[in-house]
Order: sequence, then C-alpha cells, then structure tokens
Amino acid sequence: MADKGALRTYRGRRDFDRTEEPHGRDGSSGDGPRFVVQIHDASTTHFDFRLQVDDVLKSWSVPKGPSADPRDKRLAVPTEDHPLEYEEFEGVIPEGEYGGGTVIVWDHGTYRPLSHDRRGRPVPFGESLEHGHARFWLDGAKLRGGYALTRFRGGEGTGDGEDEAWLLVKIDDERARPGDRGAPDPRRARSVRSGRTLRQVAGQR
Ligand code: MN
Repeated sequence: MADKGALRTYRGRRDFDRTEEPHGRDGSSGDGPRFVVQIHDASTTHFDFRLQVDDVLKSWSVPKGPSADPRDKRLAVPTEDHPLEYEEFEGVIPEGEYGGGTVIVWDHGTYRPLSHDRRGRPVPFGESLEHGHARFWLDGAKLRGGYALTRFRGGEGTGDGEDEAWLLVKIDDERARPGDRGAPDPRRARSVRSGRTLRQVAGQR
C-alpha cells in the first residue's frame, strides 16, 4: 500500500538539516501495528494521533486529545503520513520550520483492528480507513480499550483529502469511563518515554 512516495509530503515540508525529526526509511518494517499519541506545542497545542498502517504512521491532529468517555466526540483532522520512526520523536522543532514547537510522546503501544465484515472476517485496517470508519483496540501505557475513527466530511468521491474531518470516539466497552473529563491537560501531561513535560523538553535545548 505505501509506496516509495508515501512520505513525499512529509519530507517536502521539512528541512532535515534544521530539524531533528526523522527523515524516514522507505520500506522499513516494524513489529506490527503501533500507535503513538504525541502532544505538540506548535502555533496551537494539540495531540497528534498516529496509527501504523504498513510502512507509515497514518496521522490525525486531535485538538482536544482522546477521551475515555464514549459521549465525547473528538475532532480529528488528517495530516500527512509520517515515518514509523516518528513514534520515538520527542524534542523541539526549530521555530520557523514546519510544525515548529515542542513535542512529547504522551502515549504509545500497539493496537488491534476490530472491524469485521458481515461474515465475521477481519477487514484489512487500511481498507477500513479508506472507507472512512475503523475500530481498533489500543494497548498503550495510558490509553486502553476500543476506539473508533469515523470520517464525517470529505473523503471518497469528494476529490480533496485536505477537507477531510474525522471523529475519534471511545467505544463503550469495559475500558470506557463515562463522565471522565478525558482530555489530559497538555501543560501537565508527561512523556511516557522520559517522564518530562512539554516545558521540561523545551528547556533542554
Ligand atoms: Mn502536530
């Protein structure tokens, strides 16, 4: 599915002599499907939600972050595919560069696709995303349980992926926490990799 050009948009936006973000290898293989949630303190502070599909991380910008309450519908705006190594990126993107600001890895782990067809066979995850609805189980350090991503604007037949908008919603399962305030406060949140806050990472330049 991912071809040699899968990271073209990602690379075109970045000057790798100036940013420490990974360039990305073509055709790198992982131990199968990973997810990462980063907090990115750029022009606006937001969460970047990324799911490994084949050789790239499919990515959404989630302004308010994931919630454990199934009633919370969190806007998720697709962004360009990122390289698998981006899962490890934590640091400062120089001011003036694309996405300039501080990034911490808030959570990471593996995920399991949950979508099945009418005969009960698993649907390839990339296919679910292309059709605009994917359900998956996250096994992270912080996030656990079923989540769904659903496209509600743009997509197939509309011709312009730039206009897509999705919702990230907790599935009502044993890991749901109704009434939970959900969105972690990005200023207080700590990296699952280093235990550091945004401010601490920003200060260690
Ligand atoms: Mn971002």
